[in-house]
Amino acid sequence: MQANSDLFPSLISPVVTRLVPYVPGEQPRIDKLVKLNTNENPYPPSARVIAAIGAAAQQGLQLYPDPESIVLRQAIAARHGLAVEQVFVGNGSDEVLAQAFFAFFQHGCPLLMPDISYSFYQVFCRLYDIPAETVPLTDEMELDVAAYARGAGDSVAGVVIANPNAPTGIGLPLQEVKQLLLLHPNRVVLVDEAYVDFGGHSALALIAHNPNLLVVHTFSKSRSLAGLRVGFACGQAHLIEALGRVKNSFNSFPLDRLASAGAVAAIEDHAYFEQTRHAVMSAREGLVLALEDLGFKVLPSQANFVFVRHPDHDAAGLAASLRQRAVLVRHFKLPRIEQYLRISVGTPAQCTRLVRELDDIFHLPPPSPKERERHTRAPPGPP
Ligand code: PMP
Repeated sequence: MQANSDLFPSLISPVVTRLVPYVPGEQPRIDKLVKLNTNENPYPPSARVIAAIGAAAQQGLQLYPDPESIVLRQAIAARHGLAVEQVFVGNGSDEVLAQAFFAFFQHGCPLLMPDISYSFYQVFCRLYDIPAETVPLTDEMELDVAAYARGAGDSVAGVVIANPNAPTGIGLPLQEVKQLLLLHPNRVVLVDEAYVDFGGHSALALIAHNPNLLVVHTFSKSRSLAGLRVGFACGQAHLIEALGRVKNSFNSFPLDRLASAGAVAAIEDHAYFEQTRHAVMSAREGLVLALEDLGFKVLPSQANFVFVRHPDHDAAGLAASLRQRAVLVRHFKLPRIEQYLRISVGTPAQCTRLVRELDDIFHLPPPSPKERERHTRAPPGPP
């Protein structure tokens, strides 16, 4: 079918015609759905968050919010032992990443990133016309830091990695993050720590000694606030100031009053954060064992999801069968990983349901060629 934007091509900027947007995870309304496809937290946010949003809704919504989001930045800075000038906030970490790509990677030379990583990085590259150079993960799906070295004449725009990586879940030791920083001291190394609170090692402590380090976090995962849209970046003040220039050239008020109030309360309720992230990590351990019992190969995960493959079952077929049973997992039809499924860690009850459905699927008679064809045409799994 012809896209609407093709009807009057002269009206659309050429750069937009060429864009290939990111496709976010499916958010369907299905009864009794077990949603393990977009790495949301299975637990609701802290009750203090809800109370804070309610209170904020009672006063001042007719007024613009603080364009500098000082109270939230102070809360984040205090939690992580940083100065407020070292913290930038935005409307979800995707927006923070978009602004960081704009601020730091437009040097006209390639930006280095793993071949298997968060697919939004390549979308930003196309948006800003930044050449992306992918560096293969090893056969074990690990990041090979030495492969990020370049000769003296080979300029790079910077480096972006997710740590733990997505969708593999594998973490990179801090020592190796340090090596990356040393390999490209005159370029920004962006470490996306969206999943770090589930067992990874944060590079925040390296900020003091590394003027080229930017660390990006989100409230969407470990703080159970994917619906509120809050993300942040930490780095030395010169990087944060550059991000502020980009933000203030685009939108003075990316964080509304409710989001700021909720995010501050989430930071302040540290006990709840600890409780829920540990619950997720402990459910992950149980899920890994149960999946291994079913014959899955499970990559070692430091995130709130596991990346798995089964030697005898096609991943796309499994995702489609699970979907028919109202269990959503994520399948990527991409080179090297098309036989993998990414499964978000749910509550213990959700994990049990997933394992039960898989066990059931494995004991069905094999599908006929006709059924198999229908599966491969089923809608893609969630991102
Ligand atoms: N980074 C990574 C690696 C992610 O997987 C995600 C979630 N899709 C994000 C960043 C963006 O998260 P958010 O915009 O919800 O903060």
